[in-house]
Amino acid sequence: MGNAAKFADGIFEARAGIGTHEVIIEAPDHVLAMASLEERQIAAVLRAYGERMLFVKKDKRWQSILVYKNEGREAGATLEHVHSQLIALPEVPREIMDEMTGARLFYESRGRCLFCTILTREIKERARLVAETERFVVLCPYAARFPFETWILPKTHMPYFEQCSADDYAELSRCLRATLTRLTRRFGTLPFNYVIHSAASAGEPHTYYHWHLEIMPKLSHAAGFEWGSGSFMNPVAPEEAARMLRATQ
Ligand SMILES: [Zn+2]
Ligand SMILES: [Zn+2]
Repeated sequence: MGNAAKFADGIFEARAGIGTHEVIIEAPDHVLAMASLEERQIAAVLRAYGERMLFVKKDKRWQSILVYKNEGREAGATLEHVHSQLIALPEVPREIMDEMTGARLFYESRGRCLFCTILTREIKERARLVAETERFVVLCPYAARFPFETWILPKTHMPYFEQCSADDYAELSRCLRATLTRLTRRFGTLPFNYVIHSAASAGEPHTYYHWHLEIMPKLSHAAGFEWGSGSFMNPVAPEEAARMLRATQ
């Protein structure tokens, strides 16, 4: 972990050299792809994420918990058996901090959640929508960083992933499996990463934040421009990606 750093709002402070890491084995059989799992198995995996997050956050040394998946060697997987990972950190990583800061500033100036506002607009416009269920929206985000980058967000305002109910996990499992199936039918076996962005456990409650799951298929590689600038070039417009995914059942 980096050097000690104190942020302006004083919510958190980074400490060096500690953390916790868990591997979630998603199936007893030697399955390689999450899309091959049954819906009930994915629901059990999502429930396990929530239960472990609730347990791990009892330790107040951890300021944030990151759950993510690397599937396929190209996406950084070092084990081929279907699995995901949970890492608790003694600081809030920059990606989550940037999102939380943006969401907080939006909430302070407009009096409503940034993500709920985006959802309302996306559901109305539908151009970037991949699927909509009773509880979730699947969309290709505006200014997507990667081709076919796809997010799943709960329609109900919920800052923390671990606030999900059993019914939420069941429906999220259906959405996630259907999305991975669309991507697989479109591209064949596809390496990808996903990450769950949930509000930091430090300084709870961050009521202005809205958890979501970001899926990043490995269809392109970060290169000189991306490394040099921290910005991303994406040759596929999110509207086009959403249209193609909608057309792939
Ligand atoms: Zn919201
Ligand atoms: Zn995010």
